[in-house]
Amino acid sequence: MRILVAEDEADTARFVSDCLQEQGHDVLIAPTGPEALHSGLTENVDLLILDRMLPGLDGLTVLRRLRAGDVKAPAIMLTALGRIEQRIEGLDAGADDYLVKPFALGELLARVNALARRAASVDVVTHLVAGSIEMDILRREVRRDGRPVLLQPREFRVLEELMRHPGEFVTRAMLLERVWDFHFDPQTKIVETHMSRLRAKLNDGGLPDVIETVRAVGYRIRNG
Ligand code: CA
Repeated sequence: MRILVAEDEADTARFVSDCLQEQGHDVLIAPTGPEALHSGLTENVDLLILDRMLPGLDGLTVLRRLRAGDVKAPAIMLTALGRIEQRIEGLDAGADDYLVKPFALGELLARVNALARRAASVDVVTHLVAGSIEMDILRREVRRDGRPVLLQPREFRVLEELMRHPGEFVTRAMLLERVWDFHFDPQTKIVETHMSRLRAKLNDGGLPDVIETVRAVGYRIRNG
């Protein structure tokens, strides 16, 4: 993970950073509030570790501004202040966890790992919906208006690619690469063949077509 450590005490910052790097993380250090805000907004980090007392701009304000700027990375707030109201303040500002100084490094690493696991489990999509079509990726089931649609594995994968990019065109080349690993002659009609079978199954019974085709561009799933 890419982790931003906002901490003005150089020894603490180095100590935390060394440990995280040993665990294989990529660490950015910001010694002031404004630098933390700037890095948080521009560096695409996966996790924030923010000291509450930072020069220039305190950690709570940095976090509020990052949240206002749509930075969703989980945050751990570090503080010498352990009173309950201050913990609540930190959580209200958008912190996911709170650690009171002095803390044991093992404790910090455990919390970093817990937040990483939580973030990873939120990212795993298992259910997709586009208009009247629902897909359960784990059960390999597709339904249209609640009725099951039985698809072959490649047809399922083609539909999954379309449903993972709602409103966007997915090109024939992208489908060849992602569904067939590009092991086929680009002149092949395999995408068209599968698309036509997929459409026939989805639209069975004269239902309106849910897949839009634009020549030389690609395919797009309709959301309505
Ligand atoms: Ca400090």
